[in-house]
Amino acid sequence: MSTITPFRSVDACSADRENGTTGAAQVTEPITTPVGPLLPVVGGTLQAPLVGGRVVRHVNLDYAASAPALQAVADHVTEVLPYYASVHRGAGYASQVSTNLYETARTTIAAFVGARADDVTVITRNTTDALNLLAGAVPTTGPGGGEVLVLDLEHHANLLPWTAGPHRVLPTADTVGQTLDLLEAALIERPATLVAVTGCSNVTGELLPIDRIVALAHAHGARVVVDGAQLVPHRRVDLETLGADYLAFSGHKLYAPFGAGVLIGRRDWLDAAAPYLAGGGAVRSVSPQGQADWAPAPQRHEGGTPNVLGAAALAAACRALAALPEGALEAHEAALAERLTAGLTAIAGVRVLRVWDDSTERVGVIGFTVAGHDPGRVAAYLSAEHGIGVRDGKFCAHPLLARLDVTEGALRASFGVGSRSEDADRLIAALRELVTNGEGTEYALSTGRWAPVADSRPAPAWAPWSTDTTTVAPCLG
Ligand code: PLP
Repeated sequence: MSTITPFRSVDACSADRENGTTGAAQVTEPITTPVGPLLPVVGGTLQAPLVGGRVVRHVNLDYAASAPALQAVADHVTEVLPYYASVHRGAGYASQVSTNLYETARTTIAAFVGARADDVTVITRNTTDALNLLAGAVPTTGPGGGEVLVLDLEHHANLLPWTAGPHRVLPTADTVGQTLDLLEAALIERPATLVAVTGCSNVTGELLPIDRIVALAHAHGARVVVDGAQLVPHRRVDLETLGADYLAFSGHKLYAPFGAGVLIGRRDWLDAAAPYLAGGGAVRSVSPQGQADWAPAPQRHEGGTPNVLGAAALAAACRALAALPEGALEAHEAALAERLTAGLTAIAGVRVLRVWDDSTERVGVIGFTVAGHDPGRVAAYLSAEHGIGVRDGKFCAHPLLARLDVTEGALRASFGVGSRSEDADRLIAALRELVTNGEGTEYALSTGRWAPVADSRPAPAWAPWSTDTTTVAPCLG
């Protein structure tokens, strides 16, 4: 049993496994019961113009990249905004309120993921920032010599920071069991200091057995950091029970798009490390010669003016998610994911991606390809002709895409609390139309991105730019 508590009952998960309904490839029948949004999100009724002039409700199937703000988060930010002032730096009333808000947010976020009493919570910009911070804190003296072990299925954020120091990238095997065997063999061959692993693949939505990885790593003297960017929005994590040493995640993927993320974990490395951001707020005192007496963590790594609104927004999201009935989020997401997976697998030429033959749990993040169709062009078609937003490309996980033999990139549909069954149905219908009848308008490449040749879609009235994206550099991820 995983120590990442599912948002729905474990019994429901095992029942699914027995019925064969959790694995992507096993689902064949469409699920017809309608599913509505679980929580209100800002932009949930956004209208999107189509080429040709029609306007439809925008279908956001790109939660895994950046989730919309929860209405509760937006309301909280509006409520606290009048009190916005400097944090840790002012005696004024608003400054005192802001300081309190920031420090209370830190406590709320830590409690949401079940941090241990002596863990440190550093407010960062996002997961990438948090993992880079930790990369600078891994001790190079002591067991493992500072070496970091990482699987080749990771997002670049949990791969590239480690490559600046001693590291080994291990191949992912065909099954979960074989992958764990490879990890154990690597730890036996040579001790490591840290195992860096994602809680959930951002390409396939498959969950990793973090509790088993923690047990293996700890048995061989290594600590574990979990990249929780895709895990925390979908599963309730209890760090203390899970036993992982560090956890990183992003507010903007957790319905709090105000620029904050976190690194939570063991104090000793963070207190001993060089400050991540040297500057004001990170010191106790500085000598006339510029010699700093650095503060302990978390202040040590939070140089500069803290992002109080980001932290408050993230804490508000944590409160809203924690208030959901146990199992509600997972049941909501499972129903949508099963519906979409069933629909996708029924379309000729669609391949739903998965890392392992034997993985049984996945979240609402579904990577797929459409044979004979360029993913960037399909994404442009979905947007221009159907008002559907998905991600395309290599999802900042190039080694995994190569392992899956997906050389030209893929598409990814991802859900969250604001999603409904109609979102899945619209995507399925649009893809079916594409493979049956083809596109309804002409597309051309423009600075690396596919776009309709005649794009009549207006920008919002307030937007200071035109819809001409030729000046925007393409995202290479
Ligand atoms: N890790 C995973 C699994 C991700 O999916 C992402 C972003 O997509 C990141 C890390 C990086 O997150 P951020 O861009 O918020 O730093």
